[in-house]
Amino acid sequence: MLSSTRPAETIADLLTRAERPLTSFEFMPPRSEEDVYRLWRATDALVPLSPDFISVTYGANGSSRDRTLRCTRHMVASGLRTVGHLTAVSQSVAELEQAVRDYHDAGVDHILAIRGDMPGGATEPWLARPDGLANATDLVRLVHRVNPDACVGVGAFPDCHPASGDLDLDARILADKAEAGASYAITQLFFIPEHYTDLVARVRALGCDIPIIPGIMPITSFGQIRRFGELSGTDVPADLVARLSEVAEDRAAVRAIGLEAAARLCCRLLDQGAPGLHYYTLNRSRATTELHAMVRDRRPGMWDR
Ligand SMILES: Cc1cc2nc3c(=O)[nH]c(=O)nc-3n(C[C@H](O)[C@H](O)[C@H](O)COP(=O)(O)OP(=O)(O)OC[C@H]3O[C@@H](n4cnc5c(N)ncnc54)[C@H](O)[C@@H]3O)c2cc1C
Repeated sequence: MLSSTRPAETIADLLTRAERPLTSFEFMPPRSEEDVYRLWRATDALVPLSPDFISVTYGANGSSRDRTLRCTRHMVASGLRTVGHLTAVSQSVAELEQAVRDYHDAGVDHILAIRGDMPGGATEPWLARPDGLANATDLVRLVHRVNPDACVGVGAFPDCHPASGDLDLDARILADKAEAGASYAITQLFFIPEHYTDLVARVRALGCDIPIIPGIMPITSFGQIRRFGELSGTDVPADLVARLSEVAEDRAAVRAIGLEAAARLCCRLLDQGAPGLHYYTLNRSRATTELHAMVRDRRPGMWDR
């Protein structure tokens, strides 16, 4: 049994208290020295916003995993409630168990249990290693088996997971992950609030009350629209694409429209009872800082409880 380094209050505790929406930021482990400086600049700018937690993504190869571990260790030492992502892709059960122990030794007992994708991306058929795991639900169980103290989160997909194409199946898989011990979910980025509401309703209809935190990323450049679709199957509403197309060559105008759309989305989600906002930062601070300020201005009082 691992010794306990669990933070005084876990994300699950904060969500249970539900006094105010949570604020959280996702970062990627730096790849180069320049990346390191960019990450610390971003965290220096974002930490004053008092995030309830930050999370660090996890790659498919060994060096990227080491970077994630080092990054989370640093975040924990900075006093941040830190979630380490963990993906099952291309790792054996023994390697995954060791990864959970390594996280624990680094002071990380919050883990986001994610399946990961094959090298060709989310639509490439998943091939589990014979000595590995079949899906994220099994990873939730593994994390709890190795570290019973862990507070485990999982992924969710308002626009439907690209490989599933079945909203009911997605909802059932999320309910299975909760049943396996996940305390909360964070969604893939999305732009259509009804897709989030629909996912929540489908999951609740299965008798599952897992908190589902929306993942938010404002559009700040025109090229992102195509990349979102390719990488994660994200639907960008046609009227938003049309407005952005009109100013495609004007970066400042694209950014302003993207931020305004994201602020409206966040307010709609909060009004519908979303338990927090998880910002995908891409290790940059400006867009996230501006967006969060816009949301706070439009929903004053919601955050200060
Ligand atoms: C919040 C968040 C964080 C992420 N972080 C990372 C990261 O750090 N590193 C990274 O590489 N990727 C990351 N991803 C991307 C993720 O790896 C992909 O989206 C992946 O395709 C799905 O992962 P999952 O955990 O949802 O998988 P699963 O929950 O295992 O589901 C994936 C798909 O597998 C099928 N499936 C699963 N279980 C069953 C079942 N019981 N029956 C039938 N079909 C099933 C379904 O088609 C399902 O949609 C993240 C995604 C999200 C939403």
